[in-house]
Amino acid sequence: MDRTLRREWISKAALCAVFLALTIAGGLPLYRHRHFEMPVVPSPAVTRIAMLSEYCSGLKGTMADTTVYFMEGKNPGGKALLMANTHANEPAGLLSSLVFLENALVDTGTLIIIPEFNNSAGRNTRPGDGYPLTYEIRTGWGNKKFRMGNRDASPLDQWPDPDVYIHYPDRQMLSFIDARNTNRTWPGRPNGPLMERVTFAAMEIMRKEKVDLAIDFHGAETMFPVTNCIVAPEKSAKIATLASLTVKAMEGFESHVEPSPSGFRGLSHREIGDYSETLPFLLETPIPFLDQPTGPKTVKLLLDGKDPFLLNLAKQKKLFVPYDETGWPMEKCVGQNCSVALEVLRQYSKKKPERAIKLMNVPRYAELVTNGVGYYFHDPTIKK
Ligand SMILES: [Zn+2]
Repeated sequence: MDRTLRREWISKAALCAVFLALTIAGGLPLYRHRHFEMPVVPSPAVTRIAMLSEYCSGLKGTMADTTVYFMEGKNPGGKALLMANTHANEPAGLLSSLVFLENALVDTGTLIIIPEFNNSAGRNTRPGDGYPLTYEIRTGWGNKKFRMGNRDASPLDQWPDPDVYIHYPDRQMLSFIDARNTNRTWPGRPNGPLMERVTFAAMEIMRKEKVDLAIDFHGAETMFPVTNCIVAPEKSAKIATLASLTVKAMEGFESHVEPSPSGFRGLSHREIGDYSETLPFLLETPIPFLDQPTGPKTVKLLLDGKDPFLLNLAKQKKLFVPYDETGWPMEKCVGQNCSVALEVLRQYSKKKPERAIKLMNVPRYAELVTNGVGYYFHDPTIKK
């Protein structure tokens, strides 16, 4: 081998090594993000832990399969389902569902919780928006780490995307990306794309377990009109209105009722009501982090909701929520979610005492605002 040829081989090998090193350095954080397991400490009220695939075999062995917790009270009654991380970039829902899961004690009826509903989206990242991969919540025993996910399932789990997503069964044409959005794939089908199997399995839980109420926790931009509200179809409207009026009168915060539009298909608050006996409610809490015109997408902004650009827009009356220097901290979001969900359960139990769902030990708005969210998460290293 002459000298020039050898030099060429050396530079090629060096370039290959640099390429490999960059691939590994760039890929490792994404690999760790996708495989991070969030520790949870379920309350002693949890009586059964199932997988979503038990309700749709097509989910078995996929990243879309997820844990379903059942908390059966000693007295028979109704059943309520709480779902979070339908959109895994709206963390207030996940944190709220975990406050229920780690603390609730069930007196009457059954509470079913799916904290990571779109499990694949929870393991997806948001390229281009500079989102943090993880965030931490301060607790009495140290920091608890969470994964920041995306709105849509990972293309690693459902691919390729169609040009247009045709909703099943209404055949409404939706954006291609909605094929991976579990708030467009309701009611789903057992042999459809993976995300349709996720929503189908949840429909099966509601039909088979005879679930009375389903609450889907979300978060929305402060500049989006459907924010700080309970979205409810006609059949849930009365309970939603009573819950909204009660939290305003008793706890001093706003969460108005938005009617679920019947012409816009695939959403939980529409299809659950149309395809089962269950009454659906979708809770939207404001998350300033999600707004477009903010400063950098930092963990601080996610947790305290303070942003100078939004403050400026608030002064120009461009936001749909009252917004000032105090921002919109995460404990406020979680507090609102917990109080509204508890109030929905209470109003339903009052209306249908034979199907009551009575919980204890779940904090309400004022307690969460005072104590913070981390106060309600338990140390996973302590065995009970
Ligand atoms: Zn959402």
